[in-house]
Amino acid sequence: MQFNKKLKDIKTYEAGKPIELVVREFGIEAKDIVKLASNENPYGCSLKVQKAVTDIVANMALYPDDSMMKLKLALQKRFDIAEENLIIGNGSDQVIEFIMHAKAESNTKILINSVTFAMYEIYAKHVGAEVIRTVSQEHNLEEFYDLYKSEKPDIIFLCTPNNPTGDAIDVNNMMTFLEKVDNNTLVVVDGAYMEYAAFKDESKKIDPKELIKKFSNVIYLGTFSKAYGLGGMRVGYGISSALIIQELYKLRPPFNITTLSLEAACVALEDEIFVQKSIISCFSEMKRYEVFATKQKIDIIDSYTNFVTLCLQEHQNSTELANALLRKGMIVRDLSGYGMNALRVTVGTPEQNSRFFTLIEQLL
Ligand SMILES: *Cc1c(COP(=O)(O)O)cnc(C)c1O
Repeated sequence: MQFNKKLKDIKTYEAGKPIELVVREFGIEAKDIVKLASNENPYGCSLKVQKAVTDIVANMALYPDDSMMKLKLALQKRFDIAEENLIIGNGSDQVIEFIMHAKAESNTKILINSVTFAMYEIYAKHVGAEVIRTVSQEHNLEEFYDLYKSEKPDIIFLCTPNNPTGDAIDVNNMMTFLEKVDNNTLVVVDGAYMEYAAFKDESKKIDPKELIKKFSNVIYLGTFSKAYGLGGMRVGYGISSALIIQELYKLRPPFNITTLSLEAACVALEDEIFVQKSIISCFSEMKRYEVFATKQKIDIIDSYTNFVTLCLQEHQNSTELANALLRKGMIVRDLSGYGMNALRVTVGTPEQNSRFFTLIEQLL
């Protein structure tokens, strides 16, 4: 059978292995498996969310409120923005998909960082756009600017903090860069881990309102999947100029967010204490990874997220290590697919991290 030729060399996205799969493949009991592979919140989500969702479970026959008014109002209040500046997606992933279809075509180019979130490339290929990458591992905005000048991309993605490396762009540098980009180039600022970066270092903190006030060609993305602990609920959002948001709405399928997810996200936004506590624990536990890396002579990238990237020594092989850990019930992310001999490990609870250190010390 002939298929859409644009899809020919797409490598399907490899999600962090689910616990269920490790149970099936290795016969390890679910309670003995630790998943530190997808940057989920190891503390789960707010208990208030769990209660709110339970309360509305009986009400599943009706379609969700497609206006999403309650969640929109909550996000508008959080970011001090108008409704016309906001779109909610089934994960921020879906907003990335809308952006790609709204702006890119087969003869256009997308500019991304050398190592970054894999979905940018996959969605770009859906529409047949060409992907241009920088060379530097960390976002180098001078390099971005040179490629912007020479390649004239339709869309530029800035992932800050970046996944899977954890580094973040200095906000002043970003603003200077954005001033030099013309108004017809759409710049996506993916802030999936912004709650962590903002806590660690004020100079990395992006205020979406300020961003879109200054730049009508920029869209900011946020998600409930990481700090809010709602990866299973699939809720993300885009904040941009009314013109861009209107265009994205043309691509939105009806009822793209379920009733349960809408409620969960609303309640999660209210419980700031839960999020703050999770972030504080994350950075306090991250210190243990830094100590571990120093002791093992492994490079660790300074992280503004809830994960660490361990760049292994030459004689250590990230794929072999990740597989050996998997057989012991520890799921982490091998970055060999990104061209790095490195492991990306989500900072877990103190017990989960201790388990990781014990297991990997046996293997190294
Ligand atoms: C996790 C992640 C997302 C998307 O998450 P959703 O679950 O789809 O909201 C987007 N960008 C980056 C960089 C991420 O790490």
